Amino acid sequence: MHTMKMFDYLVFNEEKKLGLDSREGNIIFISHAHADHAYAYSKKIKTLCSAETAEIRSFNGNVIDKKEAENYFNIEIELLNAGHMFGAKQLFVKDNLAGKSVLYTGDIRLRDNIVTKGAETRQTDSLIIDCTYGSPEYLFPEPFEVYEQMRKFYMNEKPDICVFMGYPTGKAQELVKFVNEYMKEIPVVDTYIAKVCRIMNKYNMKLEFLETTSEEGLETMKKGRYIAISSPFWHIKKNFHSLAQKLNKKCVTVYATGWAVKKDLSRICDKAFPLSDHCDFNELVEFVKLCNPKNVYCKYGFTREFANYLNRSGYRAIPYEETNAKQTTTLLENQISIKE
Ligand SMILES: [Zn+2]
Repeated sequence: MHTMKMFDYLVFNEEKKLGLDSREGNIIFISHAHADHAYAYSKKIKTLCSAETAEIRSFNGNVIDKKEAENYFNIEIELLNAGHMFGAKQLFVKDNLAGKSVLYTGDIRLRDNIVTKGAETRQTDSLIIDCTYGSPEYLFPEPFEVYEQMRKFYMNEKPDICVFMGYPTGKAQELVKFVNEYMKEIPVVDTYIAKVCRIMNKYNMKLEFLETTSEEGLETMKKGRYIAISSPFWHIKKNFHSLAQKLNKKCVTVYATGWAVKKDLSRICDKAFPLSDHCDFNELVEFVKLCNPKNVYCKYGFTREFANYLNRSGYRAIPYEETNAKQTTTLLENQISIKE
C-alpha cells in the first residue's frame, strides 16, 4: 500500500519519511534559508534544497539532488519558486501509485518583488500552507507601491543618514536592490548582509553595496551622509540617532516589515512600511483558489483563523497543529483527525 501520512513529514510505503523543514526523515526538505526552517539541516541526513539555500546557510555535505529523492521514495518531485526570499522553494510531490499529490509551501509570497518572482502554484490534492498573515487584518500594498512610498518618504525627510532595517537574510538584500534602483545610491551594509549579497551576485542579482568594515565603507560613514541597511535590532534607532547628533546630522530609521500594518513599531524605528516576504490575507486566499485542494493544512501564524475562513468558503481545512500524529490518518486518503 502506497500512502503518505502527514506530520512534519510525509511517509511513503509506511516507512520512508520525507521531512518538511524538520529533522525527522530519511531525507529532509529545507524550503529556504531562514533560521526557523534551515535549523533542520544536519550533515548526517540527506537534504533536498535549492543550491542558493545550501550556499547561504553554508550546508557542508549530504545535499542531494531531486532525482535521488525521487528514486528513493518512488515519487515525482518538483521544487517550485516560493516567491519568499532568494532561493526559497516549495515542494510539490506526486505519488503516481497512489494517484495523489501534496504541495508543501514553506513560506510564500504570491506577488513579484524587486528580487524575486511570485510563488508558482499547482493544482493539488493536499495543500500544506504558510499562514503567517492568515488574518483579514493583514493586507499589504503591492511591493512596488511600497518602494515608491519609501522613496517619497526619504525625499521629503532629506536625512543625512538613513537606516533601512529588515531581516538580514532576504529582506536586507531586497532593500539593497531598492536603494540601488529607486534612490540610485549604494548602501552601507554589515558583514553578514554583505555575505548574502555576494552569494546573490553569483546568481547575477547585481546588488551594489559597501561593507561597513571596508575602507570605502568606513570612509563613506565618516562623511556622515549615507544610507545604511541593518538588521532590526532594538538598539539601532537609538545608536544611529546619537551618532547623528554628535555629527550634527539628521537621521531617520525605517523598518520594512509586514507587521507594520498592525503593530506599533515606534520603539524600533521612526517609520515602518508594510513590505513583506509573505502573502497577505488576500494572496493566501488567491493561492488556495489557484491550487484548488481537497484538503488544506494551515501551518504557522493565524492557522485557526485562516482554516475557519476556508471552511466557511467551502474548502476542507484544519490548523496543522490539530492533526494528530499518533493516529493512522493518511494525507492522501483524505482522512483527517481533529483533536477535541
Ligand atoms: Zn521565511
